[in-house]
Amino acid sequence: MVPPEPSPSPAGRPLRVATVSLAGCFGCHMSLLDIDERLFTLAGHVQLDRSPLTDIKRCGPCDVGLIEGGLCNAENVEVLRAFRAQCTLLVAVGACAINGGLPALRNGLDVGTLMTEVYANNRPGLAPGSAIPNDPELPLPLARVHPLHEVVHIDLFLPGCPPSAEVIWDFLHAVVQGHIPQADPALIRYD
Ligand code: SF4
Repeated sequence: MVPPEPSPSPAGRPLRVATVSLAGCFGCHMSLLDIDERLFTLAGHVQLDRSPLTDIKRCGPCDVGLIEGGLCNAENVEVLRAFRAQCTLLVAVGACAINGGLPALRNGLDVGTLMTEVYANNRPGLAPGSAIPNDPELPLPLARVHPLHEVVHIDLFLPGCPPSAEVIWDFLHAVVQGHIPQADPALIRYD
């Protein structure tokens, strides 16, 4: 079925949209791509800024920022703050962004102990001489994984693991038309 054509953006120009994956698995971005042919419909109404789909590294001024994943290291926090500063509407996409999701399963454990267990102690499968990574270019892990709203204000939440393509389409379609959308609970799933 041919999807309905969105009306022109109320701003009279394409919406500028940025996306990023922090402590996530890219499954939410895959769900965005599952919009399939409707991506062509959106293409005339949306310009992508920073995104894994453009490889732009810094977020510029945007109408919408879509963030997948929670916060597990210092770089995640830096990127989140940059998105908050640049995006009018900041959206937490998926369970990891909303409540920490799977990465937050480590929150009951001490991060130092975890690193030692994973990278040291001569665990089977580790290369001889393996050690805890300590390159200064690596972002420092946080003591626990945080959802986005614990650090910055989030305007909208798209729940699901991942949110379905229908949820993401409904959201983007509504924003292009100048509405603040609400996800239909019937479309939310956690598989
Ligand atoms: Fe992956 Fe689910 Fe987290 Fe999205 S919410 S990043 S699909 S684990």
